[in-house]
Amino acid sequence: MKSLVAANWKMHKTLKETEDYLRRLLELVPPDPPVELAVFPPFTALARAGELLLGSPIALGAQNGHPEREGAFTGEVSMYQLADLGVRYVICGHSERRKIFGETDEFVAKKVRAAWNYGLTPILCVGETLVERRAGRAWEVVEKQLSLALGDGLFGPLVIAYEPVWAIGTGVPAHPQDAQEMAQRIRAWLCGRFGKLGEGVRIQYGGSVKPENAHEFLKLPEIQGALVGGASLDPQSFWAIALAAA
Ligand code: PEP
Repeated sequence: MKSLVAANWKMHKTLKETEDYLRRLLELVPPDPPVELAVFPPFTALARAGELLLGSPIALGAQNGHPEREGAFTGEVSMYQLADLGVRYVICGHSERRKIFGETDEFVAKKVRAAWNYGLTPILCVGETLVERRAGRAWEVVEKQLSLALGDGLFGPLVIAYEPVWAIGTGVPAHPQDAQEMAQRIRAWLCGRFGKLGEGVRIQYGGSVKPENAHEFLKLPEIQGALVGGASLDPQSFWAIALAAA
């Protein structure tokens, strides 16, 4: 299984900055890279990014998507519209969306289902807060997020990003041993629920991954990639992280 290293730009970059970034990244990445790469620009730059990445080994991803196909949802962009742009991956249940925008596990489940309906691969984000970890409840929280998002079944390709909330954007990553342990539990849960299908799910680690620490996570046997925020905003740094997964 090839690792997937994903660049979540969050609310960063203009159209011009997107073009400059992708041109630079395309110079760095060989035609058949040893890992799979995906970039997740803001909605405003998705179409242009799709044009620039056409025919390249770098996949296009979206940071969010609404589960309804179309309708009166002012300000939203649907999974159906994303698929129309050539988007391949969509992040579902990122902790920033859960916390800042009040997204519930039930809504995340709808997104995952809709992503499959329109041929996209969801990257389902799960992870505990620091209070929950300190209370020894990390697995309980992650298991609940998995159960509620995937309770209906596994109906398409899936990536799970284990992202401890306290490690996102803080510069303080999880201990690699803790990430490995959580990934093992996630894998066991997936295989327990979905049998053989669970083996095909890639499990990423996310939370303050940088070129300097990427190898510590990406060498772990149960981790098949990384979801990278801050350190993915520079193409050189993103590519250095991808190389650590190779
Ligand atoms: C993220 O946004 O998913 C993330 C992991 O951010 P950062 O790498 O900045 O911690």
